[in-house]
Amino acid sequence: MRFFGTMKMNNNGNLQIGGCDSVKLTKEFGTPLYVVDEDLIRGNCRTFKNNFAMEGIDTEVIYASKAFLNLAICKLISEEGLSLDVVSGGELYTALRAEFPAQKIYMHGNNKTRDELIMAIEAGIGRIVVDNRQELELLEYLCEELDKKIDVLLRVNPGIDAHTHEYIQTSKNDSKFGESIFCEDICSLLSKFKNSRRVTLKGFHCHIGSQIFEEQSFYQGISVMLQFLDRVRVECGFITEELNLGGGFGVYYSKEDTPINLEKCLKDMILLIKEKTMHIGLNVPKIMIEPGRAIIANAGTTLYEVGGTKLTYGGKHFIFVDGGMTDNPRTALYGAKYEAVIANKMNLENIETYTIAGKCCESGDVLVKDIELPEVERKDILAVLSTGAYNYSMASNYNRIPRPAVVFVKDGNAKLTVKRETYEDILRNDLLI
Ligand SMILES: *Cc1c(COP(=O)(O)O)cnc(C)c1O
Repeated sequence: MRFFGTMKMNNNGNLQIGGCDSVKLTKEFGTPLYVVDEDLIRGNCRTFKNNFAMEGIDTEVIYASKAFLNLAICKLISEEGLSLDVVSGGELYTALRAEFPAQKIYMHGNNKTRDELIMAIEAGIGRIVVDNRQELELLEYLCEELDKKIDVLLRVNPGIDAHTHEYIQTSKNDSKFGESIFCEDICSLLSKFKNSRRVTLKGFHCHIGSQIFEEQSFYQGISVMLQFLDRVRVECGFITEELNLGGGFGVYYSKEDTPINLEKCLKDMILLIKEKTMHIGLNVPKIMIEPGRAIIANAGTTLYEVGGTKLTYGGKHFIFVDGGMTDNPRTALYGAKYEAVIANKMNLENIETYTIAGKCCESGDVLVKDIELPEVERKDILAVLSTGAYNYSMASNYNRIPRPAVVFVKDGNAKLTVKRETYEDILRNDLLI
C-alpha cells in the first residue's frame, strides 16, 4: 500500500490528508466523500511544468479536465500556470464560469456539436482541435456566419499500439479519433485548411492512450509524429508551428502498476524532440502535453461508511459501503484495481481478505476485489485511495443515488468545493404528467 502527497496516519491512528483527520471530515461532510489533496495537485502541476521545459523550446502543459473538473480546480490549475483541455460544452461552460483564461482553453472531441463549436468560437478559446474533415467544413461555415476566426490543431492518429486497456487505447488504425497519419490524401486535407479564410491550422495533435507505463510508447509517438511533420513539410509544403502530444502518463493504483519515472520521462521527451528535429532538419515547433490522470489521480481519496459485512455461503467476505459504482465506475467498467484502508484503524494489522461492494443493484458493483484489511465493523470508515481521476467526473445517479460532496484539503483546512446532491437535486428536472 502506498501513501501519496500529505497522507499519513495521525496520533489517533486515523488516516490524515491535507492535515485533516479523515474521520472528522466524514462527521462534518458526510459519506461518501471525495477528498482532494490540494498540495499534491499543485506539486504534480509543478513536476510537469518544471520538467517539460528546455531553454530555446516553447512548451505548454495543459490539464485534461475530463479527469476531474469543477470550478475550484479551474482556479487552482490557472494559478499553477497550466492551460486547460475541455471535450464538451459542459466542460467548456465550467471553465468559462470559473473565468479560466479563454485563450488557454483547448477543445477536443470527435463529434463536437454545432452548439458546442459556436460556444467555443464565441468565447474566443485558444485552440479547437479539429477531429476530421467534416468538422473542418462545419467550423469554417460557423466562423463565416459568426464573422470570427479561430486557430486550430488537427488531431491525427499515429497508429501506435500503447499497451493499455482496449477502452482507453485511442490511436490504433481503427480508432474513432482523428485522421490517420497514413491517410494518402493528407495534402488535400491540409490544402482545405490553407484555403480557409477563417480557420488557421497551427499544427497537429495526437494522444496515444491512457494509463501508459512504457516510456517507449511516448518516445515512439514523438518519432512517428516528427517524421509525419517532415512528410507534410516535404510533400505538402506545410510548416508545423505547434505539436500537441496528448496525455496518458500512467499512475500507481495498486501493486500491479509500476509508473514511469515522470521527471526523467518528461526531460527525455524534450531531449528526444531536440535531437530528432535537429537530425531531420526541422524547426522545433511549440510542444504541448495534456496530462489528466497524472495530475489528479493520486490526489483523490474516497471515504465511505461501512454499513455491514457479509460472509457468503460460498466463502466470500463482503464489506458493504454507502457508495459504489455510482461514485467510482472504473472497477465495474474496466476492472480497475485500487488500494484501500480502514481510515479509523490505521494502526491495526490486516487479518482478513475482503471484497468491497457498493450499494447499487448490480452484482458488478464492486470497488475492490480481494483486499487485506483489519477486522471491519459497521460504521468503520473505508478509504479507497487514488480515486481523484475519472471518479467524480464519471459519477452517475444510478439507482437515484445522490452524488457525493467534494472537499479540498490543505494545511488542516477543508473547503467544500461541490455540495452533496440532495434528493431534490435528483428531481430537479423531473416533470409530473
Ligand atoms: C483523456 C485525454 C487526455 C488525458 O489523458 P490522461 O490519461 O488522463 O493523462 C489528454 N488528451 C486527450 C485528447 C484526451 O482525450
